Amino acid sequence: MSKLTEVDPYQEFIRELFHSDDEELSRLQAEAKSEGLPSISIGPEQGKFLQLLVQLTGAKKALEIGVLGGYSGAWIARALPEGGKLIGLELEQKHADFACKQWQRMGLADKIEVRVGPALDTLPDLVDEAPFDLVFIDADKNNYPAYLDFSLKYSRPGTVIVGDNVSMGGSLVDPDRQDSDWVQGMRKFASALSQNGRLASTVVPYSDGLAMAVVK
Ligand code: SAH
Ligand code: MG
Repeated sequence: MSKLTEVDPYQEFIRELFHSDDEELSRLQAEAKSEGLPSISIGPEQGKFLQLLVQLTGAKKALEIGVLGGYSGAWIARALPEGGKLIGLELEQKHADFACKQWQRMGLADKIEVRVGPALDTLPDLVDEAPFDLVFIDADKNNYPAYLDFSLKYSRPGTVIVGDNVSMGGSLVDPDRQDSDWVQGMRKFASALSQNGRLASTVVPYSDGLAMAVVK
């Protein structure tokens, strides 16, 4: 969890009541911190929201781009039915190893598979796994537009596409930060998501802005 997922007293009340981390998720987060992984995972609100999306859509096959320590992946995988599968794409071997160790301990290992490398290199190999029922994009923001293209290619009507960090901590609309290729990537992604005739989309204001779309 990061500064972006810190909450006010009302939100803290809601978090405690509806979706606070259980012991396993708390331990994952504590160990991620002590092993030096960056504190940039989603918060429990978004984790629960992703779970509800999996349950609402009856998703069996999910794709996550940007695994980090496996926190969001654990929320998603826990909601998948028996025989369900999450494929995670992650650049850093260290992050992938950490996540796999955590999932193993949580009894989720048989539901999740991680492919290590730049997602733009591993995505083309997923043709045979498609279509996915849910895609969660949460990696390098400059490549979000390309990740959206792959998500659409690997979708079917009803596929849900979710993208984290639309606000980018306020950078998206900060006139002094528009030169960044990450900001430009996010702007293109938001524009493509909102304008694509194949998609119905919005941004849920959870923490840093969670974009979501359903393929028509
Ligand atoms: N979804 C995670 C957080 C992901 S943080 C959670 O909420 O728990 C972003 C992750 O994307 C980092 O682990 C980073 O190593 C990874 N990443 C960055 N660039 C990438 C790329 N080009 N391909 C795949 N993963 C990438
Ligand atoms: Mg994120």
